[in-house]
Amino acid sequence: MSTLLEVSDVVTCYGRIQALRGVSLRVEAGRVTCLLGPNGAGKTTLMMTVTGLLKPQSGDIAFMGKRIAGVSPSTIVKSGLALVPENRLVFKDMTVLENLDAGAITRTDRVKVREDRERLLDRFPRLRERAGQQAGTLSGGEQQMLAIARALMSNPSLLLMDEPSVGLAPLVVQEIFEVIAELKKDGVSIFLVEQNVHMALRVADHFYLMDHGRIAFDGDAQALAEDEVIRRAYLGDRR
Ligand code: ATP
Repeated sequence: MSTLLEVSDVVTCYGRIQALRGVSLRVEAGRVTCLLGPNGAGKTTLMMTVTGLLKPQSGDIAFMGKRIAGVSPSTIVKSGLALVPENRLVFKDMTVLENLDAGAITRTDRVKVREDRERLLDRFPRLRERAGQQAGTLSGGEQQMLAIARALMSNPSLLLMDEPSVGLAPLVVQEIFEVIAELKKDGVSIFLVEQNVHMALRVADHFYLMDHGRIAFDGDAQALAEDEVIRRAYLGDRR
């Protein structure tokens, strides 16, 4: 198994507030790694630090063996890491196709970009049907699909997803997880922030729990399901 992403003892602050207090974790190739944690735990801060949107105060981040801590977001995207941001931030005034093309902005292989776009429109037929529609007029689930497809347009080695199911109806959540399972089958490596543990348990191979800016649990699905604290807090176990 090869390590794609290695986060070592990372500290990230907002002014004087330490949001990440020495976080270390690994994401392996070909797997789905899931990051759980209560609101305010620091999950989004970690995603933003890994993608270069925030600069860590200390610690190291290596992606495919190269140091990326403090590197610009566009350089990080070019190196093969793409983020599906929280709250499905698509470009609302742009069409579905324009959104997809925006996802490939760092690529120069135009022919391959067109092929990839066709492939993604095959994978997400509802996006093909709505290719010329303004993204802001899509349903929440469709916008989430578009956000995922747009991130895939950069042809990433690792896809980061920040709470893709939040605020969506149960059936749509199921669809999103079906997409994640398909991507996994195709060999896409995924680092997923998720609060829906029941759904995450279906696709994820490895779990981290973050609490107050620190990693409080690190283990596989079985260890997670057996952990007392997690069972009570996340799986509705009242024993
Ligand atoms: P959620 O599940 O609610 O999205 P999270 O685990 O993603 O939460 P973060 O958004 O990373 O948590 O926030 C971690 C901590 O950093 C919180 O205490 C939050 O209040 C603080 N924080 C986040 N963004 C800022 C900011 N721009 N300025 C100051 N503090 C911030």
